[in-house]
Amino acid sequence: MDRLSSHRATKDIVDKHGFKFSKSLGQNFLIDDNVIDKIIDGARVKEGDKVIEVGPGIGTLTREMAKRAEKVVAVEIDKNLIPILKETLADFDNTEVVNEDILKVDINKLVDEKLSGGPVKLIANLPYYITTPIVMKFLEEDIPVTDIVVMVQKEVADRMNAVPSTKDYGALSVAVQYYCDTEIVAKAPRHMFIPQPKVDSTVIGLHIREERKYKADNEQLFFKTVKAAFGQRRKTLLNSLSSMGVLDKAKIKEVLAEAGIDEKRRGETLSIEEFAHLSNIINKNI
Ligand code: SAM
Repeated sequence: MDRLSSHRATKDIVDKHGFKFSKSLGQNFLIDDNVIDKIIDGARVKEGDKVIEVGPGIGTLTREMAKRAEKVVAVEIDKNLIPILKETLADFDNTEVVNEDILKVDINKLVDEKLSGGPVKLIANLPYYITTPIVMKFLEEDIPVTDIVVMVQKEVADRMNAVPSTKDYGALSVAVQYYCDTEIVAKAPRHMFIPQPKVDSTVIGLHIREERKYKADNEQLFFKTVKAAFGQRRKTLLNSLSSMGVLDKAKIKEVLAEAGIDEKRRGETLSIEEFAHLSNIINKNI
């Protein structure tokens, strides 16, 4: 068996096992060779790499990654896919399937036990209903991850990749770009999947910086400030930050002046550097 990424090969294996697609688990399988190659190239998968895949489906992407990487650990929630994966991954002894919900997995433990401590790359065509929680879990839980290359809904990729003062720029852009350099790797219109989803997709690359570019002294406060600033997009910073409940309005006025940020600006105009600077000054004043 070679590639699984044709409509025919996918249909055949799914039918053979009597598999029924689950909409609620976000099961839209990729059937485009070109995009698969772009995902693997975008993640610069090479010999020695340790990869975590979330939601291998029938193993289409898993097989191609296993041809290049040292090991691929694929976490799949749907037990009905396990016998299929057993068959499609039979020739690849550097793959391991874990039948779990990724949101409940202790990723650091998995990396220690199955990928000799990492570092790892997260490469996946993600189930859309939990894209953001998965990405944030990998970024926030101190996991030794160097690159995240994932297929997500186009609009989510646009938000992760957005620059200040654009309509897509928001708390997600800041959260992701606080840790990573972002890159659009490939576009994947809906016809590249079966069954066809109702939305188009984009593969985004998040390359985690080795050296912190932005440094918030109190990261919890930094994210709280970002959330407050974007919470009420039409409000000025003076008003949105006052409602954060950390400092009163008069003090926020002083803090903004000290930070050199005009109190009438809106959150969506602030760069990540400005958010970090601002939250550091708030931190000094609480
Ligand atoms: N990788 C395959 C491909 O590209 O064709 C399938 C991708 S499909 C968009 C998403 C996959 O994630 C499905 O196989 C689905 O069963 C799985 N999945 C959904 N929720 C999950 C969860 N919480 N944990 C692990 N896998 C999950």
